[in-house]
Amino acid sequence: MIKLEKVSKTYRTDKVETLALKDIDLHVGKGEFVAMMGPSGCGKSTLLNIIGLLDRPGQGRVHIDGVALSSYRDKDVARLRNKTFGFIFQSFHLIPDLRVIDNVELPLLYRSMGNGERSRLAREALERVGLGARMEHFPNQLSGGQQQRVAIARAIVGRPQILLADEPTGNLDSKMSAEVMDILLKLNSEGTTIVMVTHDEQEARRVGRIVRVFDGQLVGKEHAHAA
Ligand code: ADP
Ligand code: ADP
Repeated sequence: MIKLEKVSKTYRTDKVETLALKDIDLHVGKGEFVAMMGPSGCGKSTLLNIIGLLDRPGQGRVHIDGVALSSYRDKDVARLRNKTFGFIFQSFHLIPDLRVIDNVELPLLYRSMGNGERSRLAREALERVGLGARMEHFPNQLSGGQQQRVAIARAIVGRPQILLADEPTGNLDSKMSAEVMDILLKLNSEGTTIVMVTHDEQEARRVGRIVRVFDGQLVGKEHAHAA
């Protein structure tokens, strides 16, 4: 599903060069749930952005579902990204002036479909995260855990094959974190491939496979083979 070969990435500013990733080989199979761990600044977000086609590697190859990223032009990459991936962030990135249902419909605005179909899919996504009764609320009327579940509904509304989550429980207390993890585990059991950055060892152990990043490299042998 996701295959990275010898991926490196260097950030360049006027004076400084930062080697953010070095020779990353990573294979994530269809239906896997992978927790990515490592200290701040080790390259986790860069890696997630490259997997999610938000950024291109400096060197190396990225294959998504068997197709090489290098064979895509920029505008086709955007289409592939929107079709394939759902993104979840630490700070939920909900739009405060929009009702929950309208937030969840947002990713569908770029697809050709009628209002009725959009709203049906958004309702269905909200029901999957247990928020069928909160559709008319505004984000600030919900708890942090509920807001993150709205963000998950927004991420899955377009039925992506892969969910990428950058510290989805980083701003949540343990009870709300467990709520969010329960939903991610359920989505995974229903077939969605997930890569999640986390700082929480206990949470990572619930996931099963842990990939550890240190100074831009993967450490240990766990990353070598997909399950
Ligand atoms: P993590 O997510 O593990 O905290 P990042 O991927 O954000 O790590 O960062 C990896 C390294 O690359 C860090 O040294 C960071 O300062 C640097 N970096 C990240 N983004 C940029 C950028 N846009 N420009 C320059 N350096 C960056
Ligand atoms: P957080 O701090 O909540 O983890 P950030 O705002 O730092 O999230 O975003 C993490 C990464 O995702 C950044 O590299 C950012 O450019 C990217 N990003 C943020 N919002 C979006 C979005 N709506 N769509 C695509 N990429 C995004």
